[in-house]
Amino acid sequence: MIATAPEAATLAYLSQMSPQALAKAIAYTHGKEWLLLGGWVVTMVTTWLIVRSGLLNRVNDSLQKGRARPLLTSLLVGLCYFVVSSILEMPWTIYSDWWFEMSFGMTSQTLGGWFVDGLKTGWFGLLMGSMFVLLLYGFLRRARSVWWVWASGLVVLLLAFGLVVAPVAIAPLLNTYKPAPAGAVRDEVVRLGRATGTPTDKIFVFNGSKQSNRYTANVSGLGGSARVAMSDVMFQKGADIAEVRGVVGHEMGHYVHQHIFVQLGIFSVLSMALFFLVDRLFPTFVRLFGARVTGIEDPAGLPILFAIIGTLSLIALPVTNTISREIESDADRFSLEHAHEPDGLAKALVKTADYRAPTPSELEEFIFYDHPSVGRRVRRAMAWKAAHPDLLGKTSSP
Ligand SMILES: [Zn+2]
Repeated sequence: MIATAPEAATLAYLSQMSPQALAKAIAYTHGKEWLLLGGWVVTMVTTWLIVRSGLLNRVNDSLQKGRARPLLTSLLVGLCYFVVSSILEMPWTIYSDWWFEMSFGMTSQTLGGWFVDGLKTGWFGLLMGSMFVLLLYGFLRRARSVWWVWASGLVVLLLAFGLVVAPVAIAPLLNTYKPAPAGAVRDEVVRLGRATGTPTDKIFVFNGSKQSNRYTANVSGLGGSARVAMSDVMFQKGADIAEVRGVVGHEMGHYVHQHIFVQLGIFSVLSMALFFLVDRLFPTFVRLFGARVTGIEDPAGLPILFAIIGTLSLIALPVTNTISREIESDADRFSLEHAHEPDGLAKALVKTADYRAPTPSELEEFIFYDHPSVGRRVRRAMAWKAAHPDLLGKTSSP
């Protein structure tokens, strides 16, 4: 009886979803998985078109004839590649990022609104891409045999830069952030923050309902500059206090356990392996695409570099997703151990099942899921609940 109680509670949560909603969630989840594969095909086709057109070779040659410095040459060739590939991939981007989401009712944005948001954030991507290309080709020319070590360091630095800058520089361009209004919800978040050691002087609400109906919150920033941001969807969907505590407890887990640094550390090792393989696979891909390049340090070979990175990233998906799932499980555990709201967490998780089907096969979860499935997460919450009947709803002491 006791052994089966968590299982029964889990099934009760999962059965809240109607068969129609479940079918739609599965179609959406599978659609997203096909989009990943489709995105890879589009990258390969774009690479082939750009390489075969000889466009980057011509830009490269004329800059060298004009005696442009190597740094400037790699930067301009890189910008040319980013702009041309973005234009070529635009129909696919519209389909996968906007039309697909809209057809499942996951976004209420118009195509125009989506496009404006893309332009607002596009400059940041272009800036990061330019810095990457500029330094990458510097390493390729100077540290010829160990460029991949430097390149992985560069990627980690750029990622860290992005993580610190994006919440301050990008997020406010897309959404309006307002201090959370006084009231029961805010009081609970402050109490939970004190109990977990999360700064509570900056708690914001943003109009996340503008982009999607998803249920989101985050704790961003480092050290004392940390801020808690919660989507207004949390309030619109009529979240009760238990849910808020369950979800915010999870986000505070990411902050307190410094998951950003864990991820950066793991990523630095993975990206070193990635660039090492890029180095080894470059000649093969040059042959496959019939590219006209003098060597890996030739900026005209940039599309080839990105084609290899795209291919390896897709192959490495089960590895990166497994790491991500472990980190998410840790945040769930933190929420349970500090907020003591297994039902609040489970309720909130079931609401996210419409965009991540709750009960995938083991294999599908292993390959494609960057969060553990909702079924698995609810089951763990219910197991915790059964094991800690005395703690329910009581915030742990600081
Ligand atoms: Zn998380």
